Amino acid sequence: MMKTTGYAAQSADAALAPFDFERRELRADDVAMEVLYCGVCHSDLHQARNDWGWSQYPMVPGHEIVGRVIAVGNAVKLYRIGDHVAVGCMVDSCRECDQCRKGLEQLCRKGNTQTYNDKDRFSCEPTHGGYSKHLVVREEFALRVPDGLDLSKAAPLLCAGITTYSPLRTWNVGPGSRVGVIGLGGLGHMAVKLAAAMGADVTVVSRSKDKEADALTLGADRLLLSSDTEAMAEAANGFDLIIDTVPVKHDINPYLPLLDVDSTLVLVGQVGPLAEPSTVPLLLGRRRIAGSPIGGIAETQEMLNFCAKAGVLPDVEMIGIDQINQAFERLERADVRYRFVIDMATLPASPASAA
Ligand SMILES: [Zn+2]
Ligand SMILES: [Zn+2]
Repeated sequence: MMKTTGYAAQSADAALAPFDFERRELRADDVAMEVLYCGVCHSDLHQARNDWGWSQYPMVPGHEIVGRVIAVGNAVKLYRIGDHVAVGCMVDSCRECDQCRKGLEQLCRKGNTQTYNDKDRFSCEPTHGGYSKHLVVREEFALRVPDGLDLSKAAPLLCAGITTYSPLRTWNVGPGSRVGVIGLGGLGHMAVKLAAAMGADVTVVSRSKDKEADALTLGADRLLLSSDTEAMAEAANGFDLIIDTVPVKHDINPYLPLLDVDSTLVLVGQVGPLAEPSTVPLLLGRRRIAGSPIGGIAETQEMLNFCAKAGVLPDVEMIGIDQINQAFERLERADVRYRFVIDMATLPASPASAA
């Protein structure tokens, strides 16, 4: 076993605090990595606080992970010591079902193994995430960080990036596509950047005019104020795809008429109930509501390569691991532009040595 250390929640109402634990002995197809950077996803906060009701403790969150390979199992083919690798929201799947064979491991029939707050498929030990010094992962679930992608900014691509890239690809967004983005947080700002880089015409739909300057800077063509009923009526039928990134219960009814015939509003933020949607705009325009979870491993690699080539990176605020609890509080107030990234060099080798 490899001794390591991280920050963990011990219960739903405890602050994150230093936590020593062990990573598994390398299996033949495992790589061990030193974690260099880890993004802070809104779902880290939800899971640490048991907002979804399935949290297990102690919990080391973090599923936007960038690091360096420090050891490889004896059958590893894809990576060598020193390679820069990344890990996202899942670390395993059955790899045999129809979905896995199609490269859609996120939709594995037997359920993928989440990077944290889950159980290893073989040992049934709890999985722990990237708020830690080291991570052990089977090589097929590590991604290659392309040369030229800034390591200190790349981490949020592993959740916020792929979660918005995948629906853009699933619904064939390209030059001229009319894309709406609701919510301008970690996911929303990536949706804007990625859709713009794909050549789409991008509109941020927001309750707040204050977001306009940021929306335009991020690459949006305009901001549509959702409280402006006249502007909303004028924008009806004007979108091929709307990506809704709002991470809490909300009302999608005002947005449905914005979709053109046969177009889709895809939910990527909220996990749980929504305010009751009316079927009227769905029936009248043959419009659709869909959901989409992260993306497959091959698609995640494609997204990283796309971002390296197109120069797409999240806007990040770097923090030390000892600032994580304040970061959670600020995240709750949506007070971040647009993603916190933890510089894992700020994590002492072990709490004992830091004392
Ligand atoms: Zn996430
Ligand atoms: Zn499967």
